Amino acid sequence: MKITDILKRDEYGLSFEVFPPKTDSRYDSVKTATEKIADLKPTFISVTYGAGGGTSQYTLDIAKNIRDRKNITSLAHLTCVSSDRETVKAKIEAMKKAGIENIMALRGDLTPELMESDPSEREYRYATELIEDIKSISSDFCIGGACYPEIHPESENQREDIKHLKEKVDAGAEFLTTQMFFDNNLFFNFLYKIREAGITVPVLPGIMPITNANQVDRAIKLSGSFMPQRFKSLVDRFGNDPDAMKQAGIAYATDQIIDLYANGIRNVHVYSMNKPDVAAAIRSNLSDIIGKAF
Ligand code: FAD
Repeated sequence: MKITDILKRDEYGLSFEVFPPKTDSRYDSVKTATEKIADLKPTFISVTYGAGGGTSQYTLDIAKNIRDRKNITSLAHLTCVSSDRETVKAKIEAMKKAGIENIMALRGDLTPELMESDPSEREYRYATELIEDIKSISSDFCIGGACYPEIHPESENQREDIKHLKEKVDAGAEFLTTQMFFDNNLFFNFLYKIREAGITVPVLPGIMPITNANQVDRAIKLSGSFMPQRFKSLVDRFGNDPDAMKQAGIAYATDQIIDLYANGIRNVHVYSMNKPDVAAAIRSNLSDIIGKAF
């Protein structure tokens, strides 16, 4: 099923994100974890794509497995900046052949080597170019794109970032998923600004449950997200107690999701990181809300 059709449903929805295994030996355990997450009956599951190779070969396998064995819609991520047009074309053709309907079209992060290289020598510079290539191969794919309530780290300012986001949507991104954020006001301000800029496609807020203290630094480094004092206090207080930190992190993420639903958002995407227990706890906290009429 196309994600744009799912997002039209008049009910509260929750989707999850998983990542493919980094090595062959991890394949079975990741497959089992993603199937357990699929058993929670999310609206869809997205499967990330390792930009520098490594895990990229498994994205399609995991996305296909979730759909074929669990009958859950999957969204396969694809990045382009560290690849060439021929390889990307082959990946898109393989997705088409496998019956994948939804692609998250991403540029990918710049590796240190790419940062030192001349951008004009890259075959792809922006996700917009990938979207154009996907559409030239098949108009049947439903394409998603990434967006950044706290600005993409390489952008000079939010106005420029939103201008390029509009180009991405005009090129064919039919829905957007946000980078993680820990303060919902940042998301609501962003939503207001992009609507004002004429971006009308559905936007899925991305929520990352922080369930251990070690995740905090990595999450900030990856996303540049602002950590509200309320969240910092929670990590200060419970960071050294794994069980307490997990429970508090799940509660914080649940609270963010409820606030989003309460303020007019129908669908939320959770960065569940191959943790079925965390995904299940959040799902359970929302059991009397998910699926109810909006
Ligand atoms: P783009 O949309 O190309 O934007 C990148 C930067 O270029 C922005 O600053 C933008 O403003 C600017 N820009 C765009 N067009 C132009 C233009 N014409 N001229 C000048 N500047 C321009 N990474 C992975 O490796 N694998 C994944 O599976 C993955 N999944 C993700 C899922 C989500 C929801 C998000 C938010 C991120 C994900 N990422 C993933 C990370 C992503 O690859 C990085 O954030 C990357 O740095 C930017 O990707 P993008 O598609 O947003 O790039």
